[in-house]
Amino acid sequence: MYPETKKLSSREPVNMNESDLAFAQKIGEVAGTDLNACLTCMSCSGGCPMYSYMDYGPHGIMRLAVLGLKREALTSSTIWRCVGCHTCAAVCPMAINIAGVMDYLREECLKEKVHVGDLPLLEFHRAFLWSVRRHGRSSKVELMGHHKLLTLGSGPKAWFQDAILGTKMILMGKLHLLPSRLMARGVSQVRKIVSGEWLDM
Ligand code: SF4
Ligand code: SF4
Repeated sequence: MYPETKKLSSREPVNMNESDLAFAQKIGEVAGTDLNACLTCMSCSGGCPMYSYMDYGPHGIMRLAVLGLKREALTSSTIWRCVGCHTCAAVCPMAINIAGVMDYLREECLKEKVHVGDLPLLEFHRAFLWSVRRHGRSSKVELMGHHKLLTLGSGPKAWFQDAILGTKMILMGKLHLLPSRLMARGVSQVRKIVSGEWLDM
């Protein structure tokens, strides 16, 4: 379970003087979607499985994107807690590519070296890519082991919090100790897709 996210009430009020409409336009172009079509109907947040762990939620991020409030969007926990499931886009009446917006904001966050408040989550993303680069697909047990190593500084509670659940899943055959691996050609193709640059940032 993720730790409780920082709630909106604890954030500074949004400063409209920081509005950067060129940034808003760039998000729309890169995500290939019309941000101005957003109705703020909140259907995306209603369908999002991670909404209760986010500060703004997808509809809030859409508002920040439309207004070009870059700093606010890049420091939000929402962009890192999004798991890219595309449920939001499936329920959006305007068919907005919200997951694409999240992708772009995460990339910008790393490119501009904005401090990611939720560091264990960033390390989880890194551990996932590390596993995919090794096998061409993720190995869940290896992924969790690597994630724990990357977050050693989080303390003993964080190291063992998944141990009971993990053991149960192994016993039920839901987790496999040995990673399954694509054939060599497949692995090299996946490695070309998953560039190492992001891991080194
Ligand atoms: S579901 Fe679509 S239109 Fe509604 S708030 Fe979300 S992005 Fe905007
Ligand atoms: S893609 Fe992200 S924002 Fe959209 S529903 Fe899934 S977790 Fe929520």
